[in-house]
Amino acid sequence: MAENLNLFTSTQEVIQDALGKLGYDEAMYDLLKEPLRLLTVRIPVKMDDGTTKVFTGYRAQHSDAVGPTKGGVRFHPMVSEEEVKALSMWMTLKCGIVDLPYGGGKGGIICDPRQMSMGELERLSRGYVRAISQVVGPTKDIPAPDVFTNAQIMAWMMDEYSRMDEFNSPGFITGKPIVLGGSQGRDRATAEGVTIVIQEAAKKRNLDIKGARVVIQGFGNAGSFLAKFMSDLGAKVIGISDAYGALHDPNGLDIDYLLDRRDSFGTVTTLFENTITNKELLELDCDILVPAAIENQITAENAHNIKADIVVEAANGPTTAEATKILTERGILLVPDVLASAGGVTVSYFEWVQNNQGYYWTEEEVHEKLYRKMVDAFENVYTTATNRNINMRLAAYMVGVRRTAEASRFRGWV
Ligand code: GLU
Repeated sequence: MAENLNLFTSTQEVIQDALGKLGYDEAMYDLLKEPLRLLTVRIPVKMDDGTTKVFTGYRAQHSDAVGPTKGGVRFHPMVSEEEVKALSMWMTLKCGIVDLPYGGGKGGIICDPRQMSMGELERLSRGYVRAISQVVGPTKDIPAPDVFTNAQIMAWMMDEYSRMDEFNSPGFITGKPIVLGGSQGRDRATAEGVTIVIQEAAKKRNLDIKGARVVIQGFGNAGSFLAKFMSDLGAKVIGISDAYGALHDPNGLDIDYLLDRRDSFGTVTTLFENTITNKELLELDCDILVPAAIENQITAENAHNIKADIVVEAANGPTTAEATKILTERGILLVPDVLASAGGVTVSYFEWVQNNQGYYWTEEEVHEKLYRKMVDAFENVYTTATNRNINMRLAAYMVGVRRTAEASRFRGWV
């Protein structure tokens, strides 16, 4: 039978398993197997050449049982209804794992920002906010950055919402520039969270980070900051990649040089002649492998060839269910996406709290609070996996879905 590469149905399967293990009946699964709400919008945008192009966008809200929904907006040609639905469910899990008072949400627009001017991107961002304005808001659903969206796009979106709302509404969106109410440390929060869980995972495996060989797939927001943090900690980053290829140096790559040369979409390998493929990168001999790019990268096909001792998923959904099984059976410690990448939404929550109270924290305060959240989350998932003798993904889903299931029960929904 062909492997299930459908993110939505494979997420449903693990949620069903997790709810069953937590003792919930079928009705709870029926409630949580799909987002409560999915809005599809069509956004007309005046392009620079005078034509009008109509884009399709989505906003999915998985569950608002715990509190407002929360999650990023992605601009990518491969965005689809199914993907946005799955991503909103993962946001519920992430928020549950780091214990935030949110449910999961996610948005996306089918577009290729690499081919668009700043003016076109601004009009698209503002059009999207107008189109989803009915269902979002600082106490309803709070967007944030995701793949190919950034602080500038958040600023346009916040401005558009504030104009409609007739109030300055910094709490409408997170990941804003600091001058507009963004939080210290939000831009590197995902990578910082990944770094913290890598350190915790390394302790469990008695692996010294100093000198550890690290391979990172993807050089976007998460991957590039992570490469920097790992090399600052004394690890040897021996491989990195972007959408076009990968670089390998067994003696360690010069990360500062690569950061200097990368463009705003994380492309850097095109500047080099001696490249390897992304497939070869994943199979390099290393201690820690971090897929920080896109979905379905470690599958039944290559899981047997992975040589790392620890795999930490900084991307959403990089490992299939089948591959999760294979890696776990091979004794590889797999830190799942919903745990490893929860640092971004954690600092988004801190940003929203600061916006609500109108008082702002220092970088040290943010880091300290993020550190506590991530260490507790890792320990909680690791202990659940060990005590129950289940894989780390199922354990993370159990920890992640529990608060939403409990809140739904207390509200009398199930
Ligand atoms: N897009 C990020 C994620 O997938 C962050 C979401 C947020 O900050 O709300 O976790």
